[in-house]
Amino acid sequence: MLSLMWFRTDLRVDDNPALHAAAQSGNGVVGVYVVTPGQWDEHDMAPIKVDFVLRNLQCLSDELKKLNIALRVIEVDRFDDVAKALLELSREHGCDRLCFNREYELNERIRDEAVEDLFKEHGIGVESFTDQCVFEPGEITTGDGGYYKVYSPFKRSWYKAYQEQSDRVKPIGKPKKQKSMVGSSDAVPSEVGGFAFKSTDTNHWEAGEQVAKKMLKSFLRDHGDSYKEERDLPAIEGTSKLSPYLVSGVISLRTCVHAAVEANSGELEKGSKGIVHWISELIWREFYKHILIGFPRVSMHRPFQLETERIEWKENDEHFQAWCEGRTGYPIVDAAMRQLVQTGWMHNRLRMIVAMFLTKNLFLDWRLGERFFMRHLIDGDLSANNGGWQWSASTGTDAAPYFRIFNPYSQSKKCDPDGEFIRRFVPELSEVEGSAVHEPQTIPGLLRSSIEYPDQIVDHSTTRNEAIDAFKAIRD
Ligand SMILES: Cc1cc2nc3c(=O)[nH]c(=O)nc-3n(C[C@H](O)[C@H](O)[C@H](O)COP(=O)(O)OP(=O)(O)OC[C@H]3O[C@@H](n4cnc5c(N)ncnc54)[C@H](O)[C@@H]3O)c2cc1C
Repeated sequence: MLSLMWFRTDLRVDDNPALHAAAQSGNGVVGVYVVTPGQWDEHDMAPIKVDFVLRNLQCLSDELKKLNIALRVIEVDRFDDVAKALLELSREHGCDRLCFNREYELNERIRDEAVEDLFKEHGIGVESFTDQCVFEPGEITTGDGGYYKVYSPFKRSWYKAYQEQSDRVKPIGKPKKQKSMVGSSDAVPSEVGGFAFKSTDTNHWEAGEQVAKKMLKSFLRDHGDSYKEERDLPAIEGTSKLSPYLVSGVISLRTCVHAAVEANSGELEKGSKGIVHWISELIWREFYKHILIGFPRVSMHRPFQLETERIEWKENDEHFQAWCEGRTGYPIVDAAMRQLVQTGWMHNRLRMIVAMFLTKNLFLDWRLGERFFMRHLIDGDLSANNGGWQWSASTGTDAAPYFRIFNPYSQSKKCDPDGEFIRRFVPELSEVEGSAVHEPQTIPGLLRSSIEYPDQIVDHSTTRNEAIDAFKAIRD
């Protein structure tokens, strides 16, 4: 049997279930990746993410070559055009089977169903596999078979399933080398039209599965145990920074969990508090993926808590622009937004702070922020991004209660006690000494007027109370 292996968000050869299965078949494997610029644009894919995908695709092509597998790279504009293009390619090589790892977003599922129907119509077998999650959505369910809406009981069931099925959830390693290469690889484009990305600092997010594995190893060795204490401090490198690699599938979630459990002497829930906490973050990722299948409305720009559709978010383009450009007059918010725009990544604590600020203090629609994030993040991912935004807006599953609104000043003092992160990204405040860096309005008159940093665009306590009232009103 000759298999066509369709790569999507699984840009690696190691622990890749679909590739593994394709490689078992006997008569060779042809790999394919479909570039879809029109669809990427509709999905607000950030140019930095497109660049990261292309660089990883090149690494994947190199790795596949060592296994005698060619990587074809084809381009169509949108998902609607994928089925036909894949069928043509499959016929060109005479493939009798298509293998891919499942994706859970709505448009991706519609595309996959169309591909499956067309291939089956033409007598070509299709097999799909679980890869983005340790457990397929639908496997971890409540007592009555429904999807969990709350994270903690989901996590407890996930732990139980992991322990009971420890052999099944182990990473499966590399596929076997094929006897000979079928066809030849296409050149991987270095850029795709419409996604111009220019950076002098691509090394910051070096591509390749070997890089991701090294990062995983050194994170667990050097920061695993201290993760619980360091994970909320953006001035230091206390987190793994593996999100771009997980989102594009350059490393698998199974590999990360397995390495963490090994580093924790085989323990999942006990042992190193830091590593246990890190595993629980990986489970958050999985939780939000399951939510996509259990509650597809979240893929359609709808809130998880339907009654929050009645909220009348404000419309204020000036405030939105100030937030986007890091000019709100709240240093921690501004530093975070500048980190996002300048580097394509933002620390988790800061994502929560800026999302809470946009939705509760500016009272702007969470969908504006969700979209802005997608357009700038190297790790933009519908499920985690939507989950994070709806958590902060108090519209989501297991979300922050609407009355628990972050105070940006106390958050700032807690997560950046010395103001080091703020000074790094808000140079206007780099000379400000002591805790005034968190609240420049406390700097006395003349000195304050010499600093070119804006006043706060809204007052925290007034807007906080207004937000609480607005949420109370829809509940009444
Ligand atoms: C408003 C908002 C938007 C977000 N958007 C995204 C997004 O588009 N893509 C994305 O991958 N993450 C997103 N997150 C989650 C989280 O901020 C990032 O995964 C994390 O900052 C990545 O850094 P890291 O790899 O160093 O994480 P670590 O702290 O090392 O955690 C390890 C891994 O666990 C997963 N993880 C950690 N926290 C979360 C979480 N809260 N939800 C889901 N998965 C998590 C990630 O895959 C991460 O790489 C968002 C969070 C918020 C509050």
